[in-house]
Amino acid sequence: MTTATPSTDSSFRLVRHGLDLRFRQVVLAARTWQTDSYVRVRVEGADLDGFESLGSDDHIRLFFPDGPVDSVEELRAAPSREYTPFAWGDGWLDVEFFIHGDPGDRGVAAQWAASAPIGASVAVGGPRGSLVLEGRPDAWFLAGDETAVPAIRRFAASMGPDAVGRIVIEVSDGAHELFVEAPDGVAVSYLHRNGAAAGSALAFRLDELSAEDRPAGDVFAFVAAEQAIVKPGRALVLERWGLDSESVVVKGYWKQGDVSYHAPH
Ligand SMILES: Cc1cc2nc3c(=O)[nH]c(=O)nc-3n(C[C@H](O)[C@H](O)[C@H](O)COP(=O)(O)OP(=O)(O)OC[C@H]3O[C@@H](n4cnc5c(N)ncnc54)[C@H](O)[C@@H]3O)c2cc1C
Repeated sequence: MTTATPSTDSSFRLVRHGLDLRFRQVVLAARTWQTDSYVRVRVEGADLDGFESLGSDDHIRLFFPDGPVDSVEELRAAPSREYTPFAWGDGWLDVEFFIHGDPGDRGVAAQWAASAPIGASVAVGGPRGSLVLEGRPDAWFLAGDETAVPAIRRFAASMGPDAVGRIVIEVSDGAHELFVEAPDGVAVSYLHRNGAAAGSALAFRLDELSAEDRPAGDVFAFVAAEQAIVKPGRALVLERWGLDSESVVVKGYWKQGDVSYHAPH
């Protein structure tokens, strides 16, 4: 199923594609640490044949059963968390995890990504739908914390060489910046929490941006981080910049103190 947002003269539009929901059993094949709190994990399995993710901010649901499962019902009963498919190919899929919390006191996903043995089983559900950006925005505005970096990296990789805009990423400190490769016209900058509450540095930056900072033309905006970012994110892109709600994505990707937070889709 494909649904386009209402037709406008915009240089781009976001188009929804429905996908058949599939569950795939895979195993942990490799991990590559990018900082001591951010790891790219490769899972492999024949079930991944035909895996597709059309939208840069698509999500899959990773299921972490205790042991082997025989049915989708058993799988659905296991703890699960949402992640962005970062890259994939024949029989493999890469997912990037922010490792939050202290060893022994982590969420199931962060714990698994940081320390499950190579060969450990996990299951992938979805993506069950995609929001595909068709056309070329006149300018890009991408902002988020570590959990949004995989999506931001995918958006940046999809930009044309003459793209313009800015990317703002909140990380804990200067030692934990995560490189994003973007065209020359797209400025990438980092904000450091330096021990302050998650999202607070980004919220402060979003609040600082005024109507005069709005890039000209049709702007695509993506803002994703701790849930509290939604209010300042919307206030900037919808109220001060007057962007169309149908052509922006502003989302809480996790919620402080909330185990297995379910983001509204
Ligand atoms: C659409 C979507 C795509 C996402 N893509 C990614 C992705 O590609 N990579 C990624 O790393 N995350 C991603 N996330 C965020 C991820 O789903 C959450 O961070 C998830 O809660 C992690 O699960 P957990 O089992 O490690 O922790 P949980 O068991 O869910 O939570 C345990 C505790 O840790 C806290 N917590 C959860 N996440 C964080 C965090 N980031 N920083 C600090 N504390 C936290 C919770 O508030 C809770 O107190 C995405 C979320 C959404 C909605």
